[in-house]
Amino acid sequence: MTKRTRKEKKTAPTPRRRVSFRRRQQSASIFFLLWTVISAIAVAVVLLFGLTQRAMLVRSYKDEASKEIAVKGVEIKQAIEQGPPDNFGNNNYNGYLHFLSRTYNVNVYVLDERGALVHPQDFGLSETDYQKEIDTIRAQLAKQAGNSAVYEGDGEYVYGAKINLHGATSYLHVGKSLQLMETSLSRMGTRTALLSVFVVLVTFAVSSGVAGWLVNPLSELSQKARKLAEGDFDVDFYGNDYGRELVELAESLNFARDELAKTDRMQKELIANVSHDFKTPLTMIKGYASMIKEISGGNPEKRDKHAQIIIDEADRLASLVADVLDLSKIRSGIARLELREMDMTAYLDEVLSRFAYLRDSQGYEFILDADEGLVTRADELKIGQVLYNLIGNAVNYTGEDKRVYVSLKKENGSFFRFAVTDTGKGIKPEEIKDIWDRYYRSSEAHKRPVQGTGLGLSIVKTILEKHGFPFGVTSEVGKGSTFYVLFPSL
Ligand code: ADP
Repeated sequence: MTKRTRKEKKTAPTPRRRVSFRRRQQSASIFFLLWTVISAIAVAVVLLFGLTQRAMLVRSYKDEASKEIAVKGVEIKQAIEQGPPDNFGNNNYNGYLHFLSRTYNVNVYVLDERGALVHPQDFGLSETDYQKEIDTIRAQLAKQAGNSAVYEGDGEYVYGAKINLHGATSYLHVGKSLQLMETSLSRMGTRTALLSVFVVLVTFAVSSGVAGWLVNPLSELSQKARKLAEGDFDVDFYGNDYGRELVELAESLNFARDELAKTDRMQKELIANVSHDFKTPLTMIKGYASMIKEISGGNPEKRDKHAQIIIDEADRLASLVADVLDLSKIRSGIARLELREMDMTAYLDEVLSRFAYLRDSQGYEFILDADEGLVTRADELKIGQVLYNLIGNAVNYTGEDKRVYVSLKKENGSFFRFAVTDTGKGIKPEEIKDIWDRYYRSSEAHKRPVQGTGLGLSIVKTILEKHGFPFGVTSEVGKGSTFYVLFPSL
């Protein structure tokens, strides 16, 4: 058992170990998130598709319309220039133009150079409209440098041309209305909107299906995790058939359950062990105190002997308490490492000298083989604890010969190795991984010269892991064990 000068007396606040189920209200459900995301994507796709379709429809409709109007325009122009056939009556241009309009399904009229309507006289637009149109036709003819031009007018595709009618230059307007295109487009818009609504409804159904499929196993896992947090270590987590991630989650939770169960079991064992270890010195202290009071008080020699026993037992109790506190401090990260350069060869001598009383009074033999001047950078007090615990264990578990071999040797340029070997019963291979665990103590009762709490190796492991120093144990049942640590050399 370690004897230390303890600097810090205050107990730090207990580290957090609360299980919190809060933060739930703020976050949206998976169903809602899925629904929003899938709906948004689906609607975006539908809209994009609608817009592309619309653009393509407009383009192809206009292409068609311009080709059609160009062909029809030329035919109509020829027909007008040839004049109405006999059955219309020689000069019945009005009737003939109406006839052409109907036959070709276009709007046909002729303007004179000033923009006044020539035929058919009942066409029905206002004078300003005709004025505007004559300007447009002229401009388009000039632009396209010819006697005819095809262009997009106001709501229609137009074939405009100069013609010779009644011996004067006139202008022919043949227009194909874009009305049909507008109607198709607006129908398409309505269809796209309906499709969007439909898609949103479908994604609602799909999302709730998918979310249910995902959420059910998750809620099941979370319910079980809660049970686990409440201390039920019999829960079993499954992630079957729900995908790799859920299977992995279930595996991790099962692992956590096993670890928690192990810690819980060991903690209970510790309480049993520690209370036993507390009880023995307390009984002794009480016994010897009563003895001083009733019997040996008057005999200074006996009184001193009994008082010394009380002091020793009180020391043991103090170390026990210190070990329990130490471990919890180191593990919770409250105790910081104070790294300093340290001469390990000299320090090992110092630690070994603490065992001198065992050599002198109980015949233990410490065989040391150390290289000189091995220096490392570490927390001296804590490494002292490591060395003390490992050597103390070797003393406790070594064989009848009461020998403990300690060595400190250069390993290679960057490391040196501390090793302590005993000649005891060794450790069974199946127990090796457990000995570093908190509270683990071999089941066999063992009488030890150095007091132990079952926390020693756990403290060693925690300290060395904090330093990042490699360490381990090799052991052969019946022959003994070697515990070693590799220190980086400076
Ligand atoms: P303690 O020695 O107080 O029981 P430790 O944490 O130091 O606690 O050791 C844990 C367990 O590891 C011991 O109970 C013992 O079973 C085993 N152990 C440790 N060192 C040795 C050793 N040198 N030889 C055999 N067993 C050992």
